[in-house]
Amino acid sequence: MRAEYDVIVVGAGPAGSTAARIAAKECDVLLVEKRQEIGEPVRCAEGVPLVKTPSVFHESFAHYVKPDPKWIASEVRAFRCITPDGTAVTISGEMLGVEEPLGLVLERKLFDRQLAKDAARAGVDVVTHTRATGLIRDDSVVRGVRFKRRGDEFEVHSKLTIGADGVESQVGRWGGINTTLRLKDIETCAQYHAANVEMPDDTLDFYFGSEAPSGYAWAFPKGDGSANIGLGVLGTKADAKKPIEYLKDFMKRHFPDGQPLELMVGGAPVSEGLATIVRDGLMLVGDAARHTQPVTGGGVIPALEGGTIAGTVACKAVRQNDVSTHVLREYETAWNARFGKSNKRSYKIKEAIINLSDEELNRIGRVFCDVRPEELNVRGLTKRLLKRDPRLMLMLRHLL
Ligand SMILES: Cc1cc2nc3c(=O)[nH]c(=O)nc-3n(C[C@H](O)[C@H](O)[C@H](O)COP(=O)(O)OP(=O)(O)OC[C@H]3O[C@@H](n4cnc5c(N)ncnc54)[C@H](O)[C@@H]3O)c2cc1C
Repeated sequence: MRAEYDVIVVGAGPAGSTAARIAAKECDVLLVEKRQEIGEPVRCAEGVPLVKTPSVFHESFAHYVKPDPKWIASEVRAFRCITPDGTAVTISGEMLGVEEPLGLVLERKLFDRQLAKDAARAGVDVVTHTRATGLIRDDSVVRGVRFKRRGDEFEVHSKLTIGADGVESQVGRWGGINTTLRLKDIETCAQYHAANVEMPDDTLDFYFGSEAPSGYAWAFPKGDGSANIGLGVLGTKADAKKPIEYLKDFMKRHFPDGQPLELMVGGAPVSEGLATIVRDGLMLVGDAARHTQPVTGGGVIPALEGGTIAGTVACKAVRQNDVSTHVLREYETAWNARFGKSNKRSYKIKEAIINLSDEELNRIGRVFCDVRPEELNVRGLTKRLLKRDPRLMLMLRHLL
């Protein structure tokens, strides 16, 4: 590690490793991770879509990273949304006429490590077990980062700092960006990686209803009879009962023979992205910028996209020797152009879904459980809803 770099990236998750790798095309880059081992512990259900869903994600996962069997646990060929009375609405590749997998369940431990290796191969200095503890600021301009490693404190100077420090990000706050998440905009999650789980090994299951209030539960198969089984409860609903208590009840009901191998707890932002993600000498990416998909809390694709744009703009700013907010705003603008609209729409959908009662969810399930492939568009879904449950149509008109 040197005393000065062009760019310092704090956090070696998907956003940080991607930003670092791209920035290394033209800059000296330091990537710093507080954990001893990159990728562990996993705080993710590990599902990513391979299909483009323009209203949600502009690009498929494969647009950013070539899928590699080394870090793929299973291939997904169907999604099932299951309502409180057990009705399932299934969307499969077969229905869509798609032969390729619709998504993947990753091995994030290996995937995150691969991204960091790619960054190292591109010339990035990767340092683990080192925690960022503050920013060096000259007036309001960020000029580097303070670190702590095994009790030693030291400073590293930089022209530009990228905060990729995840949902618990402090870098933004240190840099004067308000990153506060309202309780209503964070899902508090608990997840088991459990063995002895009976479910199709190519299907992602999503369970909606009061078993996971204002959130949802999931079961994502890992291809070897094990699965990630978890749930997220909106922060405003998590005081009555902890997510882990909801999860234990959910497991008992749906996977009584499941054997937990690992427990994970964590938070996922389900907010609108931050209004400001750049300051003089500073950019935020990934969860640190609250760049997730608010309906699902999925953040891997936004992290890869944010990292890509931020790394590119970082190169340009360093090359021009101008890391002012004015120049860095190109990242903010490009992000908003690609994800801003779908993020806002998705946030509105999330706000509507969280207020649906179990009975309303059951009614939705009954209307759509036998949906046909040719109806999988706004017109087809609206027609079906109007015909089968016009009162529900009135309620859901905003979603459609
Ligand atoms: C329960 C749960 C399930 C999820 N499931 C999915 C899913 O199925 N699909 C999906 O797409 N998304 C999912 N997500 C969201 C996804 O995991 C995140 O959006 C994604 O990891 C964000 O990537 P990131 O690089 O921004 O942050 P992270 O992956 O969180 O990486 C941030 C890194 O910064 C490091 N760091 C933090 N502070 C410091 C510091 N001070 N100094 C140095 N390093 C620091 C951390 O140790 C960490 O390694 C889930 C989230 C949760 C909580």
